[in-house]
Amino acid sequence: MRCTVPRSFYSGNCPESRTSMRPTAVGSAVGTERKGAMAKQACKHSWSMADVRHGFMVTERCFHCKDERSYFAEEHIPPKEEYREGEHFWDYLGSSQSVKFNLKCDKCGEKVRLDELLGLMTCSGCTADCNFNMIARICEEQKTWVYGALLYKREDARKPETAEKLAVLGKYFSDKIRTPGKKILVLPGWLVKDFDVCRCTVLEDVGMFQTEPEPSQS
Ligand SMILES: [Zn+2]
Ligand SMILES: [Zn+2]
Ligand SMILES: [Zn+2]
Repeated sequence: MRCTVPRSFYSGNCPESRTSMRPTAVGSAVGTERKGAMAKQACKHSWSMADVRHGFMVTERCFHCKDERSYFAEEHIPPKEEYREGEHFWDYLGSSQSVKFNLKCDKCGEKVRLDELLGLMTCSGCTADCNFNMIARICEEQKTWVYGALLYKREDARKPETAEKLAVLGKYFSDKIRTPGKKILVLPGWLVKDFDVCRCTVLEDVGMFQTEPEPSQS
């Protein structure tokens, strides 16, 4: 049996790697826990959005060291005032309306926390050397639309659990699409070469996720 459930959302490993453990290492208490975990893993998850928060994805820059960072502000108006934090002087650079959420399975109650997610974006084409743009164009040929997950840190994109979470997100969006054969793939937004050049749109509303992203000429 192939393990299709993202591993890091559970405390243990997938059933496959568990069964490859030496049997002597498995006690009776562990055995019970195993059974429970396997029952959960058997769930064919049906994801829904949970803990939806509307706000702004705010980008700021330190005018001292030129460092840039983004955060999610759960406010009606994006905060624009400068402030000092240690040796940094953070200055408002820009913002986009965005939405933050988690995913929860309607059947088993399992929750996927998307803490590292600032929002989602689509790119309507930018430079040829932008990896995101290139992947999106190839995927369109395969009837797949690509969303970019805007993550707080570049490092987040390299974490294995992020890949698993983005796979669940892609599944969630793909299930929402009514056109048969169409899919959504969620990739780290960090694949965008230059956000200043990219013609990207931050999805600002839950309603936007429920409709198909781009009109395709198929
Ligand atoms: Zn489930
Ligand atoms: Zn600084
Ligand atoms: Zn782009």
